[in-house]
Amino acid sequence: MLKPMNENYFCKPMTSNTLQKKIFLETYGCQMNEYDSELVRSILKKENFEFVVDELAADIVMLNTCAIREHAHRKVYGRVHSIRHARGQERPVMIGILGCMATNLRQDLLEDRSLKIDFIAGPDSYKRLPQLIQEASCDGQKSYDVTLSEFETYSDVYPSRQEGGVNAWLAVMRGCNNFCTFCVVPYTRGRERSRSPENIVDEVRRLAAEGFKQVTLLGQNVNSYCYDDHDFAYLMDEVSKVENIERIRFSSPHPKDFPDRFLDLMVANPKICKHIHLPLQAGNNRILDMMNRTYTNEDFLNLVDKIRTKIPNVALTTDVIVGFPTETDGEFEDTLEIVTRARFDSAFIFKYSERHGTIASKEYPDDVTEEIKTERIMQLNKIQKEITYQKNLAHVGETQTVLLEPYPEAKNKNLMPGRTDGNILVILPQGPYKGGDMIKVRITAATPHALKGQSV
Ligand code: SF4
Repeated sequence: MLKPMNENYFCKPMTSNTLQKKIFLETYGCQMNEYDSELVRSILKKENFEFVVDELAADIVMLNTCAIREHAHRKVYGRVHSIRHARGQERPVMIGILGCMATNLRQDLLEDRSLKIDFIAGPDSYKRLPQLIQEASCDGQKSYDVTLSEFETYSDVYPSRQEGGVNAWLAVMRGCNNFCTFCVVPYTRGRERSRSPENIVDEVRRLAAEGFKQVTLLGQNVNSYCYDDHDFAYLMDEVSKVENIERIRFSSPHPKDFPDRFLDLMVANPKICKHIHLPLQAGNNRILDMMNRTYTNEDFLNLVDKIRTKIPNVALTTDVIVGFPTETDGEFEDTLEIVTRARFDSAFIFKYSERHGTIASKEYPDDVTEEIKTERIMQLNKIQKEITYQKNLAHVGETQTVLLEPYPEAKNKNLMPGRTDGNILVILPQGPYKGGDMIKVRITAATPHALKGQSV
C-alpha cells in the first residue's frame, strides 16, 4: 500500500543510530542530475550517511534517474532488477529512486511488485531524504515525496563534489516555463526559479579556493536566469570577476533568450568560453510549432548568423530530435538543410520517443515508425559527422589554449586529455603538466571526435 511520508506506520522506523547508513548512489542523465547527486551526498553526509563505491557493500542503493530519454528509463528498470538479483534473498538492500523519473513515474514505480522500491524522492525533495529513508526502514513500508516547489533552489546546500576536480557544475536556476511539447522537465522539475547572484558568486569563490579552474553554470533554461532585475549577462559578468576561475561555461540555453547584451559580453570577456550549445530540435516550421519551440527555422538561422558575426571563433553545438509525430520525409529534409547550413561543431541527435505526461504524449500519436526514425538518424549523423570532421580539420595548425582534465579520465596512461575554449577534446602526450593547467597546444591532427596536439 502506498503511503505518503508522515503518515502513521504500523512499525516503528529505525532511529538514526540503528539505521544502516552505507549508500551507493548511481546517476543517470544530464549534468543537472550529476549536480543534484552532489547535493544529495552533501545532505546525507551531514546526517552521517556514508557513500561507498562498492554496490554490494551498501545498505541502501539510490538511483538518480532521468526521464528525458527512453533508454535511461529502461536502463533504470533493468538496474533495479539486477541489484536485487545480485543480493539474493539473504542480503536485502533498500532501493530508492530519485530524480525526474521518480516524479514522472511515481505510481508505476511504487506499485510494480517486481521492483520493490522502498522510497522515492523528486528533485525538490532531497532535503527530506533522511526522513524518507528512515520511514522506509520499516519492513514492507514505502515512503515518497515528489512535491514540486516554487522556491527550492538548494542555495543553502554546498554540493559534495569530487576532490581534485577541474570543472565544477553549479545550478543557478531550476525548472522550466517553456513547455516544449516533448519534454517532461516542467512537470518533473516545476517552474523556473533562480538563485541570487550573491549566493552564486559566494559558491564560485569557494570553488576557486578549492582549486577548481572552470565553472559550468547550469539550468534547464539557463539563459532565462532572472533574479530581481538581474539577468544572465549580469550573472556571468559577476561570476567572471572571481579570481582564479579561468573559464566559465553554461548549459543549456534556449534560442529565445540571446539579447545582444549577452553576446557582447561573451565577446568582451575572455573568461567566458566561446561555445554555445544551441538546441535546434527540428528544422521544419510546422514541427517546431508542434514542439512549441517558439522560433522558426529562419529565426534560428538568423540567430546563428548573428552569433557568428559577433563571435567569429564561436563553437556551436546542438540537439536535434528526428521522427517527431507526423514528421514527413520532406519535413525531415528541412532539418537536414538547416543542419547543413548552420554547420554545427557537433550535435546530439535523438529519435523521438514519447514521454509520459507530456503534451505530445497526449495530443500526438507517435506515428513515425522505428525504421524511419533509424533511417533519419543515420542520415543526419552521417552529415553531421562529416561537418564535425571538417570543422576539426580546420583547427589543425592552430595554437589553442587547452585546459587539462584530471589525469584518471585518460584511458591511455601516456596521453592527457584537455578541452579547447570551444570545448573540443584534445589529446596530447603526457608532459610536465597536470589536470587544471592551462597550456598552449599546437593542433597536429584531427578525427571526427577529437583533436590531437603537442604542447608548445
Ligand atoms: S526548454 Fe523545452 S526542452 Fe528545455 S527543459 Fe524547458 S521544456 Fe524541456
